[in-house]
Amino acid sequence: MNNGPISSTFPATGAGPVLRAEALRKTYLSGSQRLEVLRDVTMTVAAGESVSIRGESGSGKSTLLNLLSGLDTPDTGTIHWAGERPAPERRALFLGMVFQSFYLIPELDAEQNVLMAARVHRRPGTIERARAKDLLARVGLADRAAHLPMQLSGGERQRVAVARALMNSPKLLLADEPTGNLDERTGDAVIELLLTLCRETGTALVLVTHNVAHAQKTNRSLFLHDGVFR
Ligand code: ADP
Ligand code: MG
Repeated sequence: MNNGPISSTFPATGAGPVLRAEALRKTYLSGSQRLEVLRDVTMTVAAGESVSIRGESGSGKSTLLNLLSGLDTPDTGTIHWAGERPAPERRALFLGMVFQSFYLIPELDAEQNVLMAARVHRRPGTIERARAKDLLARVGLADRAAHLPMQLSGGERQRVAVARALMNSPKLLLADEPTGNLDERTGDAVIELLLTLCRETGTALVLVTHNVAHAQKTNRSLFLHDGVFR
């Protein structure tokens, strides 16, 4: 197993924050119902910082991550990625995402799943394949590169997803309850891995979790309630 750090291929962010979200408001309309999920959410994440977000089920954590990732847009408020407004074409290089349900492509083996991330911006070549192998080694799956997701345990699948999220050396990793489908011990190991890899690569981390112990391992903890951080 290769224990060396995986260096970022991206220039330093400079002095500014990696992420800045200001006065975000998000309301869902379904029929005549108006659901005010986020009322006034402001947050800043510094380069390399880890921040946890907790909150009751339905409090808007996933909604917030979808806004931060640029997959959805706020009704009002602004988001900046390293000082610039989110743009779909920058997403794959700026941020990586990890979800509760892994979202691996079932027909592709572990290495191909990791390589998929590179495909977004260029045709993977020797360098990308070497990096995918290197990342799989770093998450402890060097010998599982040719295995399909169905041949891997939940924890191993999430490790593949973590390797995939880091493939493009993002400045920011967004993780939405990444241990929600894992048993306690496996979940603890995945969180340790996420935190270690983010620290080594200088990747900022926003971790949504219900687990207080996991939240306490991040640099800063936020709690979402009634549409605001309290
Ligand atoms: P959390 O991740 O904290 O559990 P979510 O952000 O998933 O919460 O959801 C917040 C609230 O918004 C919930 O009440 C949920 O039902 C509602 N919601 C989420 N997405 C939609 C949508 N696309 N349309 C309508 N309501 C939604
Ligand atoms: Mg959620």
